[in-house]
Amino acid sequence: MTRVLSVASECFPLIKTGGLADVVGALPTAVAAHDVDMHTLVPGYPAVMHAIGDAAPTLATLPNVFGGTARVRSGQVDGRPLYVVDAPHLYDRPGNPYLNANGADWGDNAGRFAALSWVAAHIATHGLDGWAPQVLHLHDWQTGLAPIYLRQMGGASRVGTLFTIHNIAFQGVVGAHELHWLRLRSEDFTMDGFEYYGHISALKAGLVFSDRISTVSPTYAQELMRPEFGRGMQGILNERRNVLSGILNGIDTQAWEPPYADPRKKASHKAALQREVGLPEADGPLCVVISRLTEQKGMDLLLEALPTLLHHGGQLAVLGNGERQLEEAFSRAAHDQNVSIHIGYDEARARRYLAGADVILVPSRFEPCGLTQLYGLRFGTLPLVALTGGLADTVVHANAAGLRAGVSTGFQFHPIDPSALSGMLSHMCEQFYRPAIWRRMQLNAMGQSLDWEASSAEYAAIYTQLAARS
Ligand code: ADP
Repeated sequence: MTRVLSVASECFPLIKTGGLADVVGALPTAVAAHDVDMHTLVPGYPAVMHAIGDAAPTLATLPNVFGGTARVRSGQVDGRPLYVVDAPHLYDRPGNPYLNANGADWGDNAGRFAALSWVAAHIATHGLDGWAPQVLHLHDWQTGLAPIYLRQMGGASRVGTLFTIHNIAFQGVVGAHELHWLRLRSEDFTMDGFEYYGHISALKAGLVFSDRISTVSPTYAQELMRPEFGRGMQGILNERRNVLSGILNGIDTQAWEPPYADPRKKASHKAALQREVGLPEADGPLCVVISRLTEQKGMDLLLEALPTLLHHGGQLAVLGNGERQLEEAFSRAAHDQNVSIHIGYDEARARRYLAGADVILVPSRFEPCGLTQLYGLRFGTLPLVALTGGLADTVVHANAAGLRAGVSTGFQFHPIDPSALSGMLSHMCEQFYRPAIWRRMQLNAMGQSLDWEASSAEYAAIYTQLAARS
């Protein structure tokens, strides 16, 4: 058995703002099949504290953790061991894990997540309740300082570290004046360390000081070594390419089971969705978006290309929230009778959109892996995606060769701009009106293996290599 502590700022179903939570929630069960004993460590936000309950045992009490006492409480998530950093001075706040009620970052986020990293390093070094990990699996910038703390505490020679990039756009950068508050040493504040243009970068710390690095698709791993995608980290990732892996996310195929085995049964779900969102019960391709409404997700491109879809008799139903100007722009677009927008985050609704739609649109400018296109495949709701990151790795494009070989599962456009998106919307509409081809594609999509089987073996192999040193 390899013992791994997975450390993250989100974990489904306890707390979720995006795909990171799904992955962290799914990993323990996925890797258990490969003889990995994974425990998960998360911050004690109110939702998490509520889930473990008042009676959750305290396994350790650490005084003086970034401005107060932190207790490590034990609980369970989906029957797997969970550790929670109970530190009210850092985490007992309403709402989103990262943002205050005005949508701005909490001013002390650096310390809040340094504390998570500190506690992770403490557990790795000293063990907890008779259990000590051989490997720390760290996720995103919130855990980037853990390898440094581990080294400072003397645990780095025994415990290996894997740092996974779920999204390189978020970097946890703060001013150099926080150096001592964050318990960092000035000798590491260099270009070869975690210094980034005169600031401290928690993400860079994770990339520099971890033994292994992974990201959530092979194509994103390649893209990250290029300036257009690397967000300043392309140099360090190029240097460390020998320890960089791209491992695709899987999905929980049981939790995402479509309410039909035969995609022809979609018809009644489509009609129900059209009624629910107030679209006419027309026969053209009904496209959905289930997404954060941000520039990353290419929502502005979609607004520009939308007339093409409508021109071909298509419809659009958007479920999402995010940047105010995009929410407003979609609300204006919804004056057209064939466009609907529902602003909010609603998992049950997301499933009804997937079941009822013909197509799911994911026109992201970059996409580390992307989960919604995987849910689309599972539901026979064909993904139309930008050719980037995990979207490139999970969809088989309906070009002439793919269609002739009968292997296509969706549509990919490139370059990532409104005119290429428009062109692909036209191509998709043409195929939609050829029912035999469309049905073949739906069956291909629904038959694709999307679970964790292959990827969990890849993670387990890395854990085994890292554990060999302990
Ligand atoms: P990201 O993590 O960049 O937001 P992913 O595609 O990896 O993108 O994961 C997004 C996750 O959040 C998926 O599980 C998706 O179904 C879900 N999601 C996004 N927006 C909504 C929404 N408005 N309502 C319900 N689920 C949503």
